[in-house]
Amino acid sequence: MLGPDELARYARHIVLQEIGGSGQLRLARAHVLVIGAGGIGSPVIQYLAAAGVGRLTIVDDDRVDLSNLQRQTLFVTTDIGRPKAEAAAELVTRLNPHVVAHAVVARVGSETIGALLEDAPSVIVDGCDNFDTRLLVADSALARRIPLVSAAVGRFEGQLGVYRGWEADKPCYRCFVGDAPARDALTCAEEGVLGPVTGIVGSMAALEAIRQIAPFGDDSAGRLMLLDFLSLRFRTLALPPDPACRACGATRG
Ligand SMILES: [Zn+2]
Repeated sequence: MLGPDELARYARHIVLQEIGGSGQLRLARAHVLVIGAGGIGSPVIQYLAAAGVGRLTIVDDDRVDLSNLQRQTLFVTTDIGRPKAEAAAELVTRLNPHVVAHAVVARVGSETIGALLEDAPSVIVDGCDNFDTRLLVADSALARRIPLVSAAVGRFEGQLGVYRGWEADKPCYRCFVGDAPARDALTCAEEGVLGPVTGIVGSMAALEAIRQIAPFGDDSAGRLMLLDFLSLRFRTLALPPDPACRACGATRG
């Protein structure tokens, strides 16, 4: 049951027929694992906390740097030098006391991913900045049948996909990128990124995480969204499963 304070806080959700009290309750009972508290992670964490997702685990091994502040809206100048995960978790608590935020200051690797997935998050949102982590997170999400929202940005572009590769007609992340994935990797460290691009794509990732928890509208798994802000072209491609995919071929039932 939602208390009177929550009914007031989430009134604009609850009035939506597609969400309602039951959807809000699902959000309150959900646990989202957010990989990366950077440009994408900032709006993800802010919107999921504001939306009343009951538990957020925020993983980032980095500290706030001056060069982050152009796009990472979770942080202010006095946060420079602080671990991002800790600063983010503190902000969540101030934003919404109904949300339990857990900061993990660690690098996501083969040694740490198991512990992160131990208490079965409802959804994983991956907004990390490197490809090895993306593959590891994607493979682990697939193996444990946890929906994955994967978002990436670079320069004036963004891409976003939702993966549930264990389902018969849905692709996994490797169906999209293959095994030699550098060709599709977007990274912003070397090539730069316009600040609001991370905000838009991160906000979309938050929306898709909510859709996985309290389903509304059409299912977005199996569709890839490509956003080009130079030409202002937004496309959604159907992403069929790759029958030869080594990652999801074996898990698909
Ligand atoms: Zn696959």
